[in-house]
Amino acid sequence: MTEQRTYQSLCPQGTSEAVRRKHNIGDIFLNQAKCLLCGDVITSNHRHDFVRCSCKSVAVDGGSWMNRRLFNSADMIEEMAVPYEQDVASDIE
Ligand SMILES: [Zn+2]
Repeated sequence: MTEQRTYQSLCPQGTSEAVRRKHNIGDIFLNQAKCLLCGDVITSNHRHDFVRCSCKSVAVDGGSWMNRRLFNSADMIEEMAVPYEQDVASDIE
């Protein structure tokens, strides 16, 4: 089989919202967080991609659609998510 394709290769940073929606891709370019206990950086690559760090203190989920986070304590997690940049300035929150 071919290696798993990530949505980032399909829609790189800067892809317009209309094109992303066509591919069923949301607003999060990189759904990523770091566990400050074990140092793992974990990435959720699609909506139902639930990923845990190796010490299991932190998990990410939701892919490009939701920054879902699970953690034992908020000071164990470093948020590293990167949103898609909109080419229209008024869309930036
Ligand atoms: Zn960990």
